[in-house]
Amino acid sequence: MPDDMVDAHLRGVTNAIAAGWRVLEKSGSALDAVEEAVVVMEDDETFDAGRGSFLNRDGRVQLDALIMDGATLRAGGVGCVEHLRNPVRASRKILSESPHVYFVGEGAEKFAAAHGIPLCKNEDLIIPREVERLREYQAKADEHGKELFAPEISHDTVGAVALDREGNIAAATSTGGTLNKAPGRLGDSSLIGCGCYADNQSAAVSTTGWGEPIMKLVLAKWTADRVSAGNLPEWSAPEAMNYLKQRVDGHGGIIVLDREGHIGIAHNTPRMAWAYKTLKKQEAGVVREN
Ligand code: ASP
Repeated sequence: MPDDMVDAHLRGVTNAIAAGWRVLEKSGSALDAVEEAVVVMEDDETFDAGRGSFLNRDGRVQLDALIMDGATLRAGGVGCVEHLRNPVRASRKILSESPHVYFVGEGAEKFAAAHGIPLCKNEDLIIPREVERLREYQAKADEHGKELFAPEISHDTVGAVALDREGNIAAATSTGGTLNKAPGRLGDSSLIGCGCYADNQSAAVSTTGWGEPIMKLVLAKWTADRVSAGNLPEWSAPEAMNYLKQRVDGHGGIIVLDREGHIGIAHNTPRMAWAYKTLKKQEAGVVREN
């Protein structure tokens, strides 16, 4: 995250917290709270989610999202959608109204449209900043004659975890994936247990970062399992980042929440925007010291 983007990120995560909190303070569910928080960040062009996402190799936006309910283990995911401003809304419809768990591409868009979610043009999701970013990246890759080293790519996936008055937890993650990805490539973000997971018996987790290493470790579930084995989220989050680095040389960030309200936030990148709010406290930052 470059210096000139820090304020926009802090504003973005703070707005997301406010949207989630509005749901929770009216005794709404954790599931509704994470959906609303993620919608705010999908609508915010600062992030790699919804409009303003990174472009794939063909210059198109392809989006992935997952939402999961810790109370019931119901989940809804979409992958490689190109005509939805808020893929998490479609994910939620799948969770609530479909016997299935995951839809991709055109089928996901048809499902969304049939359930009242308007489709948009792919161009509506593309902004000039990202056209320029892709152009620069591809020019550099040509110069180097190969794919650039993956850790040079920044990440801006969005995610939220929440705990409601009933004691239920939920998680949601939404992304445009990685810059210059091959069309059809799916990362960790929308895969159950990789980029997102929620189970009342363990934890709600959302991850960001280089998706391929995260997928190999099924990192969100790995972290939730650490919590159910008795480790606190505040320890499990940095442990997950160490594991990611040591085992597969991966990089990224993670947010973790359990039913007791313990919070874990960690990243092994220089920065990651984060925010949280409890009845007693609200904080946000772009570096989390553990
Ligand atoms: N994890 C995402 C992916 O690999 C990218 C990101 O976090 O920004 O698709």
